Amino acid sequence: MTVKILIRYGEIALKGKNRNMFEAALRRNLIRAVHGTGTAITRIHGRFLAEGPADKQQEIISRLRKVFGVVSISPAATAALGMEEIQSAASQLVQTLPRSLATFKVEARRAKKTFPLTSPEINSQIGAFLLSSYPHLSVDVHQPDFRLEIEIGHREAFLYTGRYAGPGGLPVGVTGKALLLLSGGIDSPVAGWMAMKRGLSIEGLHFHSFPFTGRRSQEKARDLCQKLATYSGKMTLHMINVAAIQQHIKESCPEPMGIIILRRMMVRLAEAVAANRRLQAIVTGESLGQVASQTLESLEVINAATNILILRPLLAMDKHEIVSLAEEIGSYNISIQPFEDCCTLFLPRHPLTRPRLKAIEKAETALDIPRLIKDAISGLESVRVPSL
Ligand code: ATP
Ligand code: MG
Repeated sequence: MTVKILIRYGEIALKGKNRNMFEAALRRNLIRAVHGTGTAITRIHGRFLAEGPADKQQEIISRLRKVFGVVSISPAATAALGMEEIQSAASQLVQTLPRSLATFKVEARRAKKTFPLTSPEINSQIGAFLLSSYPHLSVDVHQPDFRLEIEIGHREAFLYTGRYAGPGGLPVGVTGKALLLLSGGIDSPVAGWMAMKRGLSIEGLHFHSFPFTGRRSQEKARDLCQKLATYSGKMTLHMINVAAIQQHIKESCPEPMGIIILRRMMVRLAEAVAANRRLQAIVTGESLGQVASQTLESLEVINAATNILILRPLLAMDKHEIVSLAEEIGSYNISIQPFEDCCTLFLPRHPLTRPRLKAIEKAETALDIPRLIKDAISGLESVRVPSL
């Protein structure tokens, strides 16, 4: 038994070349998402069609719903292109619905414009047929209990009564590549997810302070990557040990400046990794005003350490909005597991909230920055992380 699933995609504003690129990327990502389920993906009348084994329907649906660019999907019954065949498919479909759904509306659409009946004619013929066959049904065009949608394709007709929402957005890969600064917290995985939603393909970079932080912090970053990979396919995760850098900062710089100087070191390291991997931007989970290092002044001083573009998708979001998105994505339960972040290790008692660039730059003269960067980068570890 084969199940057929119609896949709708959006961003109708896209035209011409962009549209082709969008569709090609979406197709690749759909194929990757259903890999191993025995499902084929084809193009039909402005949609994609997934055809796979019926016993894997739920699995296929749940995977397709994680592909960015997908607006909604509908498992559909099919019929040959004749009114009798469509009627009998409609009848079978109605029989699978609970009898409590008593009002309905038929909504037909034609991709094949040579089909002998117009859409309104299909609506009224199929509607009348259902009314005569099922006395418990009546029509309600405004607030029906169910909509029977019929799409007249070029080779067959598709009938369905429901839509599952997809994540929307743009297919991963169409807008470029970026490096996600991935801590073990709640925010950064959500930031990565949002960047992917706008079509960025993401690699992760995690900073740890082994042996001051346990292996667990690295495993956590890996687990979070694995979760993100369910939306994007295999992800590369880079890890850099910043223990030596933190020690130097602690020894040589004023304590209240510790975090901001560490952040500046992080973006310099990120810039080096991004250049090496040909990634065009850095993505962070910073949100304005959330903690001391996330004031406008701090963000400005962090930006000044690098020339690479820094994207902050969570900038304007409230914590509770970020948390509910994290729950939806499935990263929340991983993020809340206890762990030591490298940043919490040498946390100053009174971190600066309004750092001044001049003063920070002066404090940094106590550090041999090029050497520290070089040493840290030489210990870079990279792994490929498969999806969960
Ligand atoms: P998160 O929940 O993502 O850790 P946060 O609200 O705790 O964010 P900070 O700890 O100030 O905020 O970190 C701000 C951003 O800096 C993070 O969202 C992340 O992008 C980056 N970052 C912080 N610590 C690390 C780390 N250990 N490795 C990689 N990136 C980090
Ligand atoms: Mg954090």
